[in-house]
Amino acid sequence: MERDALVRKKHNIHTSGSNVPSPLQDFAELKSRVEIKVLIFIYLKHILCYMDSGVRYGCKRYLLRNFAELGFKEPTPIQRQAIPVLLSGRECFACAPTGSGKTLAFVCPMLMKLKHASKDGVRAVILCPTRELAAQTARECKKLAKGKKFYIKLMTKQLVKSADFSKLHCDILISTPFRLQFAIRKRKLDLSRVEYLVLDESDKLFELDLVEQVDSVVKACSNPSILRSLYSATLPDSVEELARTIMHDAVRIIVGRKNA
Ligand code: ADP
Ligand code: MG
Repeated sequence: MERDALVRKKHNIHTSGSNVPSPLQDFAELKSRVEIKVLIFIYLKHILCYMDSGVRYGCKRYLLRNFAELGFKEPTPIQRQAIPVLLSGRECFACAPTGSGKTLAFVCPMLMKLKHASKDGVRAVILCPTRELAAQTARECKKLAKGKKFYIKLMTKQLVKSADFSKLHCDILISTPFRLQFAIRKRKLDLSRVEYLVLDESDKLFELDLVEQVDSVVKACSNPSILRSLYSATLPDSVEELARTIMHDAVRIIVGRKNA
């Protein structure tokens, strides 16, 4: 069996979609691919042409240091597959059990792709179904970004009431759909430059009947080169349908069973 299939089998990862990027063996792989490529470049210049489709992750040291400090020794199954998919610029919808590390699976590639803080409007949005989950995700984001000056903002009640959103610069904005929709409609929040949109706990987004709000956020994120991804603990047909309508050439990732 080929290497990718073996890794997936071992970790109970099921994928579908065209050309699914290889799953990670370990976190170190996130940085080392660049070094391997440099070596290949030096010694085998022309072979490089054939290998140029290979990956080039170049993870910054602060991120791997944070993983180590948090005691994360190896990626969880969803992280093994979702991280390389997103780093390859592919959209994905992923289903993995509660507690299996989905937050890091989308925050890690987001931090890697954003590279450093920038005053470029709102650059990434994470939608969570409830205020508690949004606050928890914001805390997790800040822990993972420690040591790097990213501007990570939670859409609180005060913020949504008071802020002048026309001037909001923010690398990662975390919100419930309700507050974000309000900010777009009533506070002129501009999401047209968002490069990464995450719909977290998307099964709950449906259960809580937030589809209309999610829809207006998806529409407001009008950047044609946006990368969307969707996470869930179960994958009912409604979620799968949403994923397929908003995404292009998405990779579907299931860890364990679909409705476990
Ligand atoms: P989910 O969103 O899938 O329910 P979370 O992202 O909230 O899961 O993660 C659950 C817990 O696992 C968190 O406390 C998180 O810090 C921890 N965690 C995340 N990734 C790893 C890892 N690679 N190794 C060990 N623990 C991890
Ligand atoms: Mg989660």
